[in-house]
Amino acid sequence: MTSPTTMVSRLIESTASPQERGFAGQLMEMLAIPVFVLDSDARVVIWNHACERLTGASAGEILGTGEHRRMFYEEPRPTLADLVIQNRADEVRHIYPRQVPGQPAGGSLSAESWCDMPRAGRRRYLAADACPIFDELGRITAVVETLRDLTDEKMAQIALEQLATRDGLTGLANRRCFDDTLRAEWARALRQQQPLSLLMVDVDNFKAYNDAHGHLGGDECLKRIATAVASEMRANDLVARYGGEEFAVILPNQSLKGAAIVAERIRCRVEQLQVPNLLAPMQHVTVSIGAATAIASKDTDASQLVAIADAALYRAKHMGRNRISLPISEAA
Ligand code: GH3
Ligand code: MG
Ligand code: MG
Repeated sequence: MTSPTTMVSRLIESTASPQERGFAGQLMEMLAIPVFVLDSDARVVIWNHACERLTGASAGEILGTGEHRRMFYEEPRPTLADLVIQNRADEVRHIYPRQVPGQPAGGSLSAESWCDMPRAGRRRYLAADACPIFDELGRITAVVETLRDLTDEKMAQIALEQLATRDGLTGLANRRCFDDTLRAEWARALRQQQPLSLLMVDVDNFKAYNDAHGHLGGDECLKRIATAVASEMRANDLVARYGGEEFAVILPNQSLKGAAIVAERIRCRVEQLQVPNLLAPMQHVTVSIGAATAIASKDTDASQLVAIADAALYRAKHMGRNRISLPISEAA
């Protein structure tokens, strides 16, 4: 019996009989899985119906060309099949960071990635397997690439991750994400002996605001404050909803002086929102902020940083609110 591999080899050989071409061709076309095949010059010799549906490009325009890549990516980028045929398997790690654990043997490659799908007009998350076909002398004569559309699964996974790490009201990182990030940043600060700063931001007199505006009005106010705080962040900073009307900001590699500047910017930004308080129309919603900075050491842990920032926040409240406060030893 003729193996599928032999059949594909025969299919791309010019010596294949019309019957063989017909049978193998039909087999390929009937597959519900998108498949394309490159010959040893990286030209497309098979582009099945499922691949046409996935990419929006017909076999008529792709066969015999190297245009397949542009049906997946907007930028010049090789497909997995190209890497196999061009003997560039060692580049796969850079080009496709998300690889399937335990790469299959025999020169095959597997990877997952987001694809632009310019012709189809919507991004898809595809899993690809590229398998070489060898001749009797062990030379690669073709590569078969099969594709699986995992977009729905990927979107569900992203949504789950969002649920697990995001605060539902504000869209900021949630408390769990904050705890994980603080632990990780503490470990990094310890390794690199860099300072790590933390801000605790608490809305002033928010109970009174809620009483005046109702809980939904309070929620809207929290959302606006969350956006204002997040707008002051750099790429590596993390702002989280710590709980209730309290936010926490992790500032990696930031000295206390730098943290105090960020804290003051946040305080001003919230004040400038000019969110009115019905109970006290002349006053706008404000925040108090406590700051802390530490150089991590093995004898301490991140919870001490939280405790120091909390104590500073408490002092800011005590001193009249709408202000920032630094740890006592630094403030003196
Ligand atoms: P202080 O200036 O000392 O921080 O006073 P405060 O009134 O802000 O502090 P307190 O802890 O007495 O009250 C916090 C209020 O925040 C009470 C609670 O109802 C409200 N709050 C907590 N979480 C939410 C929320 O998700 N939505 C709304 N609308 N209110 C919330
Ligand atoms: Mg408060
Ligand atoms: Mg509070």
